[in-house]
Amino acid sequence: MILFLRGHTYKYESEKVCRIFFPTAKIVFAAEDGPIPDPADPDRVTAEKTVTADGAVYTCTARVGGKTASASVREDPAKAELIEENALAAAMLQALEELTGIIPPWGILTGVRPSKLMRKLIAERGEENAVRSFQTELQVRPAKTELARRVALAENDAIALSAPESCSLYVSIPFCPTRCSYCSFVSHSIAQAKKLIPDYVRLLCEELQQTAGIIKDLGLRLETVYFGGGTPTSLSAKDLATLLDTVNAYFDIPHVREFTVEAGRPDTVDAEKLRVLKAGNVGRISINPQTFSDEVLNSIGRRHTAADTEEKYLLARSLGFDNINMDLIAGLTGDTPKGFAATVEKAISLAPENITVHTLALKRAATLVTGGGAAGNADHTPQMVEYANFALDKAGYAPYYMYRQSKSLGNLENVGWAKPGKACLYNIYMMEETHTVLACGAGAVIKLKQPCGPLIERIYNFKYPYEYISRFSELTERKKRIGEFYLQNGKEHTNG
Ligand code: SF4
Repeated sequence: MILFLRGHTYKYESEKVCRIFFPTAKIVFAAEDGPIPDPADPDRVTAEKTVTADGAVYTCTARVGGKTASASVREDPAKAELIEENALAAAMLQALEELTGIIPPWGILTGVRPSKLMRKLIAERGEENAVRSFQTELQVRPAKTELARRVALAENDAIALSAPESCSLYVSIPFCPTRCSYCSFVSHSIAQAKKLIPDYVRLLCEELQQTAGIIKDLGLRLETVYFGGGTPTSLSAKDLATLLDTVNAYFDIPHVREFTVEAGRPDTVDAEKLRVLKAGNVGRISINPQTFSDEVLNSIGRRHTAADTEEKYLLARSLGFDNINMDLIAGLTGDTPKGFAATVEKAISLAPENITVHTLALKRAATLVTGGGAAGNADHTPQMVEYANFALDKAGYAPYYMYRQSKSLGNLENVGWAKPGKACLYNIYMMEETHTVLACGAGAVIKLKQPCGPLIERIYNFKYPYEYISRFSELTERKKRIGEFYLQNGKEHTNG
């Protein structure tokens, strides 16, 4: 498919809108007056800006699969959300809706954080106007607008707990027992990475100590700790204990509000590891079914059964874990609306404190996509997500955080649901970019947040464990930037 841009430079925005309708198409951009890249390719979308005496007009003309459609939107400065790239996106949306018959639930909103935008609009214009902007200017459907509104309001209590000197800690364990077919994450099979583990754990402990020193020097206050990955419980009980001992020895854990470890894959969980987590002051864990259908589990490469998930969940309960999350995925290959409804009902019957409903995303690096087989169940995913929302709401869960991923089926969202008072603080802080997240381990990204402003700066750790191990000394150098950032952006809020 050829995407012509004329009279503007909104390449990224134009591609984003095209991707809503044609998620897997190969899109080639054509320069304004340059040659057509492939004259034989009949599919083309032209996104054009023309300036008239009355202001700018954005026009989209699309000819795809033998059908044509076009639409124009005039920039309207009176509608704050309908200027420049949004006016262009609105024209593209209208034309491509007509052409394909697809009505994207999130309208022209392509960002990953709809609830963050909703919170911003509520703060600026009030709740009623924010809702109106979502629906009329951004063309978000009423059900999704309501979801964003509920999440935005639910986040307020957690965000109010955060102060300018607050921070959270993320610890990356990029190892898994096997690779799930839908995963594009840089995660290494624990069996293949075995020889790296001793050095990885040793250096991670060193990095944790350094990070604790930075927190102390800057006078930051640690609010939440989150071990993610990968699957942290892929590590042995001994290695987990070593890491947790380090965290407890060097960080102010008694004053931390929440300490989560993802025990995502039931096949990595046993009583010994759960006892280690408990002894290490971990209060919240995830045990992720993804689906309660054995057939679907098999098709996505998870080597555990639905019964294993239930067994490990009940084991964690018996050992005293009273804050457990379960992740589910809508749209998995081989799943059906009936099957997914049964998964949702099963999860509700087990009564975890959090249930997170993800929509399958067709990431380029996932074997689900590279394998060339059937990839997901796009046609029925909206129905699955709708059922989950209805059932969770009815069962007393409320949506408390959300995000969107590119290439998710049906352009749908991921939503965390919680029982009253059980929202995961870390998820909210991370998604709303409330405060600094210091991160340790391979693939981790430190996200520095200006204490009293919107500025965000990232520092990247090495992506792969072997790089992390061989170039560890360079990380210490990179981390000097943390102190400089606070010096430049709000030293008055810290001791440093
Ligand atoms: S457990 Fe999670 S991180 Fe690991 S392979 Fe599966 S989806 Fe990816």
